Amino acid sequence: MIMTIIDMHVHLCNRSRCSNLSAENLNETISKQIDGVCLTDHWILHPKKLYSIRDVKVFHGVEFDCVMGDILAYGIDSIPLRKRNLPAEKIINHIHDQGGVAVCAHPFSNRHDGFGKYVYDYEFDAIEVNGTILEGLQVKAEKTAVEMDIPTIGGSDAHSYRQLNTIVTKFNVPINSMDDIVKAIRNKECKAIKI
Ligand SMILES: [Zn+2]
Ligand SMILES: [Zn+2]
Repeated sequence: MIMTIIDMHVHLCNRSRCSNLSAENLNETISKQIDGVCLTDHWILHPKKLYSIRDVKVFHGVEFDCVMGDILAYGIDSIPLRKRNLPAEKIINHIHDQGGVAVCAHPFSNRHDGFGKYVYDYEFDAIEVNGTILEGLQVKAEKTAVEMDIPTIGGSDAHSYRQLNTIVTKFNVPINSMDDIVKAIRNKECKAIKI
C-alpha cells in the first residue's frame, strides 16, 4: 500500500523563538520511517532563514494563536494581519478563503492554549493529536474528531530533538505537495499514529 508518513507540527529555531531545534538536529534525529515534516512556526509561513534538511520532504504550514487557542493552517499563501485577540472564525475564514485547511491544535492540552470543549463550535477540517501531551488527552482529541466526523492529523510539536518521533500523520496516498496534503485531509485519507 502506498502511504506517506509526515510529522505535521514542527518548530525550528531561527523561525520560532521558543524552539531550539535546528535543521541539523532534526535531520540527525528524525526516524527513518518518517517521509516528511511540516514546519509550522508561529505566524511565519515561508522560511525566514535558509536551512537544509537532507533526508526528509519539507512542507510549510503555520501555527496561529487567537483568543480561543491555537490553529494550524496548511495550504495558504498569506497570513492574516497579526492582531491581539483575533476571533477564531476570522482566522478560520482566512484559511478557507485561500483554499487551505484549518486544524485545531492540541484541543485539550493542559500546557498549551487549546480550544477545549469549544472545538465543536468551529469549522475545523481536522483535529490534531499532539505528541507532547498526555495520552488521555490525545485519546480525547481522537474521540472528538470521530464526533465531528473529521480526520485526525498527528504532529510532534517538537521544539527540540528530544521531542521528535512521537505522533505523526499517516496519509493513505502519496504526498508530494501541500496540495496533496490539503486534498488528503479534506478526503479524510489521513490519521494520527504513534511512531
Ligand atoms: Zn500550539
Ligand atoms: Zn506548536
